Amino acid sequence: MKIYIETLGCPKNETDSLQLEGLLEDHGHRVVGEPDDAEVFVVNTCGFINDAKKESIDQILAFAAYKTGKEILVVTGCLSQRYGEDLTKAIPEIDILLGVNDYQALPQMLQEYEKGKVNVACHPAPSEYSEWGHRTNSSPGYSAYLKIAEGCNNTCAYCVIPSIRGPYLSRKKENILEEAGDLAAKGCKELILVAQDVTAYGQDLYGEYSLTGLLEALCQIDGIRWIRLMYCYEDRITEELISVMAREEKICHYIDIPLQHVSDRVLRSMNRRSTNASIRNTIECLRRAMPDIVIRSTLITGFPGETKEEFEEMLAFVKEMELERLGVFAYSKEEGTPAALMKEQVHPRTKNARRDRIMEAQRLISLKNNQKKIGATLEILVETREEDGTYIGRSRYDAPDIDFSVLFTAANEELEAGDLVDVKITDAFDYDLTGEFVKHTERK
Ligand code: SF4
Repeated sequence: MKIYIETLGCPKNETDSLQLEGLLEDHGHRVVGEPDDAEVFVVNTCGFINDAKKESIDQILAFAAYKTGKEILVVTGCLSQRYGEDLTKAIPEIDILLGVNDYQALPQMLQEYEKGKVNVACHPAPSEYSEWGHRTNSSPGYSAYLKIAEGCNNTCAYCVIPSIRGPYLSRKKENILEEAGDLAAKGCKELILVAQDVTAYGQDLYGEYSLTGLLEALCQIDGIRWIRLMYCYEDRITEELISVMAREEKICHYIDIPLQHVSDRVLRSMNRRSTNASIRNTIECLRRAMPDIVIRSTLITGFPGETKEEFEEMLAFVKEMELERLGVFAYSKEEGTPAALMKEQVHPRTKNARRDRIMEAQRLISLKNNQKKIGATLEILVETREEDGTYIGRSRYDAPDIDFSVLFTAANEELEAGDLVDVKITDAFDYDLTGEFVKHTERK
């Protein structure tokens, strides 16, 4: 069959879709790039906050409306896992519904599919990490998300992910290295490590935290030039991890640490293990070991009970610490979480106003930090070329889709997506930089 996969949500969902593509091709199906050419539509959903749920339902309804009668509509991912059969009752156009632990059932379900009979598979998490599929392609070939674990053992009071994805299950090191080796052999230069909590890697499987060992092994893979860490939990950023990051040339001086808040009382209420003091200490240690490090974080405004003073404390922290990259979200009340039952829910206007105040402060910090880059030469991974000949790429300091771009000219040069080049920065804006091509550091 010809199958079209629509992927929503986070990079972990993206890796699941790429694995599903490999699995379907192994069973003789063909994954197509356009829904027009497809006999089967797969919507790989996200379901962790209201906005994401709404987007997923809109997409499902769009594909339901798109059906001409013979196509099969398959819904997978976190929304399926969270709501199961309630979703098929609410949207009867869904033909097959698969939870996050049931992707591997799709080939058989397509084979056995009978029109009008709804098929649902929604099992709880297995007891160990399931290697249910392998990616056959990784677009773009030069950069890839690499999932190292599934689930989460942290129990943040606002978060439904543990109830959707189950307990933390580390992937076997040899399987991660094998996939990374395959990707490198196909021209991948950047590996982006993802999990719900990358820093918890190994504890459940090897009885000890093993991220540093995994990183050292990944650094041995020829062809890989950049290794990036996403979703790190603050209190597991150890001296050992910091020294491996500082020592290994391939590991980008970039780290994503979702902090969520900085007030001790709010952090306790969120059931987060960090404290204001531990956060400050971790940032200091990172900056001491790698003065050029870019720290990305996310904060939540309007968590139930957050007072004006606690918000002001967070705003003052943002202005003082000047993190290089920051995303801010207004608290989203999610049924099934402890926070949803908390009394002092903050008014949406207040939540959003607080979010906007921090984002405005961050915009000025971002511009100031970017201006410090003028005159510097940065290694850039080329991604696209505009019609006017301008190239767009990313530096070691920027993750795809969520961070900044570098726009640059390269007169008399024909560059390709995936080339690594040096660019001299000539100007800076709130979020992006501009520059001029200097030389190749590695052709595609
Ligand atoms: S660390 Fe917290 S916020 Fe992140 S997935 Fe786990 S429970 Fe959710």
